[in-house]
Amino acid sequence: MKQAVDTVQQVVGYYNATKNDYRVLWRRGMHFGYYDRQNRTHTAAVLNMNRKLADLVQIVDHDWVLDAGCGIGGSSLWLAANRGCQTTGISIVPQQIAQAKLSTKRLGLQKLAHFLVADYAKTHLKSRSFTVVWALESILHAEDRQAVLKEAFRLLKPGGRLVIVEYVLEREATTPSERAELDRWLTGWAMPSLLTEKQYKSLVAKAGFVDFAAYDWTEHVQPSFDRLAKLVRLFNTLAPLLKMLGFTNKWRMGNLTASEAQLSLLAKNFWRYKVLVAKKS
Ligand code: SAH
Repeated sequence: MKQAVDTVQQVVGYYNATKNDYRVLWRRGMHFGYYDRQNRTHTAAVLNMNRKLADLVQIVDHDWVLDAGCGIGGSSLWLAANRGCQTTGISIVPQQIAQAKLSTKRLGLQKLAHFLVADYAKTHLKSRSFTVVWALESILHAEDRQAVLKEAFRLLKPGGRLVIVEYVLEREATTPSERAELDRWLTGWAMPSLLTEKQYKSLVAKAGFVDFAAYDWTEHVQPSFDRLAKLVRLFNTLAPLLKMLGFTNKWRMGNLTASEAQLSLLAKNFWRYKVLVAKKS
């Protein structure tokens, strides 16, 4: 239990320390985006990811989506505005929820989009109240994924869909240098662990879900990784100056080394960007 509390504090610390970086560099959503011929800019790709996922699990106006780990509410607001469904976005970072609520008002979506501070492993929300649980680059912060999956199962109505987007390991780290690199990535981004597809499949089944399927979307996210690589190079060049001006902190520097490790491990095909879906029968 203590460990779970520590993880939550780590995540809150990470997002509080890096919120301006996300605001400036990531904007409309805190995920990598889906690039294709029609969506070549970062902002377009970030919005397009919502569209691609919503199409994949066929979200329509009579759905009620739990956006588990909603960041500043980008996906919830997109779904409410573009699919006309009800959404509930939760995050353990109060500042994100406050920002999401402000955006909801600004967009006039109060009837559809709702936000609250809650832990996706223990939401205290009513059982069987959602038709979709949506976790976009979010449950990689979970201390105990099994607990999150169990909670998702409880919250879904029969027939409900689960959609998870994650960095999925192709294999376990074997050499000490691989382990060190993975560790730098996990620590810097406040992620307790990453799993292989096989491990995920078994956890999802254990939680009671059926019809597990996995899709590899790395190719469509690659431009965003290339963009991150450029930002890392720029930040590295400016680091001495930023340090001098007091613009760096533990989490920011960790974020940087983590990003380097992430990119290096991707180049080694150590992990892939995947979408995992399943159903409550
Ligand atoms: N899905 C959003 C945000 C991704 S960032 C988007 O794509 O824009 C990861 C999110 O997960 C952050 O909002 C973080 O606060 C949230 N998170 C991490 N641990 C959590 C927990 N235990 N319960 C709820 N949210 C959590």
